[in-house]
Amino acid sequence: MKEDGVYDVVIVGGGASGTALLYILARYTSIARIALVEKHAEIGSVNSRANNNSQTLHIGDIETNYSVEKVKEVASASSMVAYYAQALPLEIRSRVLFPTHKMVLGVGKEEVAKLEERFENIHTIFPNLKKLNRAGIEEIEPMVVRGRPPHEPIVALAQMGYAVDYQKLAESLVDQTLARADASGRVKIFLGSPVTDVERDADGQWKVLCANSQTLRARVVVFDADAYSLLFAKRLGLGKEFSLIPVAGTFFFTNEVLKGKVYTVQEPRLPFSAIHGDPDVRVEGKTRWGPTARFFPVLEARSWKTSLDYFAVSGLHRLRTWRSFAVILLDPLRFWYLLRNLLYEIPLIAPYFFAQRVRKIVPTLTGADFVRARGFGGMRLQRVNTNTHELLLGEGKIISDNMIFNMTPSPGASVCLYNAVRDMEHILRFLGSSDVFDKTRLQKELCDPRDSLILHDPSLETSYAS
Ligand SMILES: Cc1cc2nc3c(=O)[nH]c(=O)nc-3n(C[C@H](O)[C@H](O)[C@H](O)COP(=O)(O)OP(=O)(O)OC[C@H]3O[C@@H](n4cnc5c(N)ncnc54)[C@H](O)[C@@H]3O)c2cc1C
Repeated sequence: MKEDGVYDVVIVGGGASGTALLYILARYTSIARIALVEKHAEIGSVNSRANNNSQTLHIGDIETNYSVEKVKEVASASSMVAYYAQALPLEIRSRVLFPTHKMVLGVGKEEVAKLEERFENIHTIFPNLKKLNRAGIEEIEPMVVRGRPPHEPIVALAQMGYAVDYQKLAESLVDQTLARADASGRVKIFLGSPVTDVERDADGQWKVLCANSQTLRARVVVFDADAYSLLFAKRLGLGKEFSLIPVAGTFFFTNEVLKGKVYTVQEPRLPFSAIHGDPDVRVEGKTRWGPTARFFPVLEARSWKTSLDYFAVSGLHRLRTWRSFAVILLDPLRFWYLLRNLLYEIPLIAPYFFAQRVRKIVPTLTGADFVRARGFGGMRLQRVNTNTHELLLGEGKIISDNMIFNMTPSPGASVCLYNAVRDMEHILRFLGSSDVFDKTRLQKELCDPRDSLILHDPSLETSYAS
């Protein structure tokens, strides 16, 4: 068995989260030896892959399911990605960050009232956010107004924002790290190396075992493997109360009918439900629509073999997991919603049912305009607390002895650098050494000068933050 010295930190997972942590540790701390291990041959090829997510930099302006508190947190957290990317050389930046118009559209009296109220609550956080009436919407997105009944009330909150190719972002985070003068002695990247297990050795260090018989020894291990993080946590006896509801999100294409991103008002009980349309950063001349939501027991999209891992992590052998699924999924609104989404999977007729939903955004589209976006879509593994039968939204973290397990559904990619900074704080604490963190530099390079970088992490008090 090959051994490769002792790393201070081993990061498992080379998506947006793992590569963001690599970058933050290498650039802003003096930690001496860092490794990143990714099971696929390519960086960012699972949920961070451009085809697999909606490519939105979520900052809280159009996400109507976020509380005002969450909006404030997400706005400064995700702006780190924009600050990072803006400083990249033009040739790289133009493949990572895409300025775009974006809006959330309210249709009907109730949604209009909701957005009017929301505007009052958040416009001080986003001074450039505009409330648009029908004429204002038509100016930016004419197809949203064309063919709409004249008396149907509509309003939109809109401003400029960003689309992000999160795979290119992850690649650039690795490239920027490896371009450092001190990288060769400090940083090692292992691609095509699936981690199979992790165990303690006699010296109290972690042994990270890889499928190719490689063993990495580490003082700290961070799992940035999204749903797989929970699988590894469970193997070590942690997070046993959690299960995952596997929601597959797929997409359709039409010809280009939108100039920017148009989201709709979210139903708070169904945070993954409101569809949107937008240009795809890698597909010219089309509008991408979705995501749909379908119960599908795998951990990685389009990979049947990961269904075994889903059953290993989900705890379906326990009665209380079934009870939690029943409490959550038999809620009439959720049940109806999942049932309706099944219609979007039936060959030939799916586009016609899907078009009915999309007409809320572009009234003139018909079923004949839609084609399924084959090879597009990802898995949203929604965490469930089987003790309380609650659906947990957003990212989750389990912190244990010199180990962190990150579970990162949306907006995990948007806040990847912020999560990495929070993890860096834990890591420095674990290492308990004189490793230095250059806060001034990080603040200057990645933060809005008006924000002070708050490193306090609520997960320090509760080991299971959600
Ligand atoms: C339909 C959909 C739409 C979304 N839209 C958005 C959006 O618009 N904006 C946004 O911010 N977020 C969005 N998200 C969420 C976003 O995609 C994720 O939050 C983000 O990609 C998570 O990044 P990650 O690095 O944690 O996970 P991933 O990108 O999945 O990376 C995890 C990595 O861990 C690796 N790994 C797993 N197991 C092992 C192992 N045993 N050994 C070694 N490596 C391993 C995997 O191969 C993978 O590369 C969306 C998600 C979906 C599904």
